[in-house]
Formats: sequence, C-alpha cells, structure tokens
Amino acid sequence: MSSLDRKARTLLVSEILDGMWLTFRAMFRRKVTIDYPHEKGPLSPRFRGEHALRRYPNGEERCIACKLCEAICPAQAITIEAEARDDGSRRTTRYDIDMTKCIYCGLCQEACPVDAIVEGPNFEFATETREELMYDKGKLLANGDRWEAQLAFNIAADAPYR
Ligand code: SF4
Ligand code: SF4
Repeated sequence: MSSLDRKARTLLVSEILDGMWLTFRAMFRRKVTIDYPHEKGPLSPRFRGEHALRRYPNGEERCIACKLCEAICPAQAITIEAEARDDGSRRTTRYDIDMTKCIYCGLCQEACPVDAIVEGPNFEFATETREELMYDKGKLLANGDRWEAQLAFNIAADAPYR
C-alpha cells in the first residue's frame, strides 16, 4: 500500500469517526422537532387563525354592526347586513366571511372598535368542501363561545402593545 493510500484511508476513518461522534452528541440534544398533531408548538397571542365573533359576559353580541371590518377587508371577504332592534340598538342580521377569500391580514380585527371580530388561535379548520369555508354568523359566534377564554387572554396579553 502506497503512502498516498494510507493517508486516504486514515482520512476516511477520521471522517467516519467524526460523523459517528456528531450523531452520538445529537442523540442527547434537545429535539427541535415536535410530534404534531399529538404535540403542538407555542403560539403568539397575535397569531391570526380562524375568525370568531365574541359576546359580552352577559351573552350579548359585541358587534354593533358598524361595518368597519367589512369596509377595510382588502379581500372583500366579509358581508354584513344589519337592522335596528326594538330597543334602538343596531345589530347584524347577517355576518358572513368567505374564508376562501380571506388572506388573514388581521385588518378586520384591528378596525373593530369593540373587539367583536377577532382572529383566534385555531389553525386546524381544514374542510372537505368549499362550502364549509363559507362562515355565517352562527358559525362565527359558536367559534367565539368556544375560544372566548383564550381570546380574552390573548387580547389582554397584547393590549400593552396596541
Ligand atoms: S383577516 Fe383580512 S382578509 Fe381576512 S376577513 Fe379580516 S380583513 Fe378580510
Ligand atoms: S365586527 Fe366590529 S368592526 Fe365589524 S361590524 Fe361588528 S363592531 Fe363593526
């Protein structure tokens, strides 16, 4: 065996040992991957996920049908119809969001003067049909009821920076 061959073999063995050492050390490092969907990573309070319409603690809808969210939506995804109630307050009779148009910009939430329409922490709302992504008021209020504790927490956590 020539001295060149010996050097090449020594280099190869050294490379293999380096690789094994690297693998061995990596086995004891903190994992950077998670076992989704069984594990979930942390989400910022500002995360912009599925929309929800919120209520006050007494069950009254927060939305006052000002239509600012509809006007500001750059995707024209929101459709609102409204009328006055007997008590003179104004409430929506229709509040639809076409989630296939939404670009999750968060402007509807920013525009809302009463924190009624919000983007919540839910990002797992894939559907099998397009129709299921046409959200109506009932669906949005149900989302609000389901996520209210987390929504209120997120709004409070973000309040100092708004
Ligand atoms: S997140 Fe943006 S695109 Fe989606 S409904 Fe709100 S304003 Fe429209
Ligand atoms: S959700 Fe907010 S911005 Fe939109 S109509 Fe209701 S009160 Fe106005």
